[in-house]
Amino acid sequence: MRIGHGYDIHRLVDGRPLLLGGVHVPSPQGLQGHSDGDVVLHALCDAVLGALGAGDIGQHFPDSDERYRGIASGELLRRVTVLMRNAGWRVGNVDVTIVAERPRLAPYRDPIRARLAELLDTPARVVSLKAKTNEGLDAVGRGEAIAATAVVLLEAAGADAHGPGHPPGGAR
Ligand code: MG
Repeated sequence: MRIGHGYDIHRLVDGRPLLLGGVHVPSPQGLQGHSDGDVVLHALCDAVLGALGAGDIGQHFPDSDERYRGIASGELLRRVTVLMRNAGWRVGNVDVTIVAERPRLAPYRDPIRARLAELLDTPARVVSLKAKTNEGLDAVGRGEAIAATAVVLLEAAGADAHGPGHPPGGAR
C-alpha cells in the first residue's frame, strides 16, 4: 500500500463558476486559477501523485504552460489516474475535506463523490467527502477562499504490480 496527502486553496472571485470535485455548485463567486480552480481535484491529484512518489501537480501541469489554461481539472485527475494505473496501483480509499464558509455543500456531497469515483476509476463507496466551515476564521472563514485536503490510500492492482520504489518482483 501507499499513502498520499494533498492540499489546495484558491481565492474566490466574481465572474467565475464554482467547481468543486468536478461538479458545478451554484454560487455568486467562483475560484480563481489558471485552470478552473477546482481545489478538490487539485488536492486529489497531489494526493495520488504523492502516494506514487511522482512529484506534484505543478510539475506535471505547470501553470506557465498555455496548454493548461482553462483546462477542466477533471482532465488533470484523469491523467493522474492513468499514471497511477500504468504504475500498477488502484485506489483503496480516499478521504476529502472541503473547507468553505459558503455555499452549503451538503446537497452536492453525493454528486461530487460520484464524480470523484468516476475520475479515480474506483467505486463511490470508497470515496469519502466531508465539508466544513472555518468558523469565521482567517481568509477561508471570511469567505475569500475555499480550501481542500485529500488523503488517498493506493493498493497494488495485481500480483505483478510494482510502483515507484517497488522493484519488479515485489521486493521492498
Ligand atoms: Mg490549485
